[in-house]
Amino acid sequence: MTQNPTLYCSTCRTTKPPLFARRAYRCVMCGKTRNLTDYRVELDQLRAMTASRPVMKVVPSTPAPLAPTTTCAWDTCENEPRSNSKYCSRNCSNRNARARHAVRKAS
Ligand SMILES: [Zn+2]
Ligand SMILES: [Zn+2]
Repeated sequence: MTQNPTLYCSTCRTTKPPLFARRAYRCVMCGKTRNLTDYRVELDQLRAMTASRPVMKVVPSTPAPLAPTTTCAWDTCENEPRSNSKYCSRNCSNRNARARHAVRKAS
């Protein structure tokens, strides 16, 4: 896991914390100043931005191997179905039939 860097300035996107002087925050990189309230809002926006749009986005150079497009018709089963069936096994077929029977009984 790569952690997103914490950004402190929406103008220059520096990761260096600003200086606090004369009741204002001054960016050490671009010199932008804002008061406490404005700065809190700015930090919130920056945080939301880095959270929703990770900086270290991993772009795979090769496509991931394709998962089997069809899985067993039984809900929780991820196995590949057998060529002559919707299910991977007799077991799943039975479980599905039993579940459907229970639903029909309940309604
Ligand atoms: Zn700045
Ligand atoms: Zn199955």
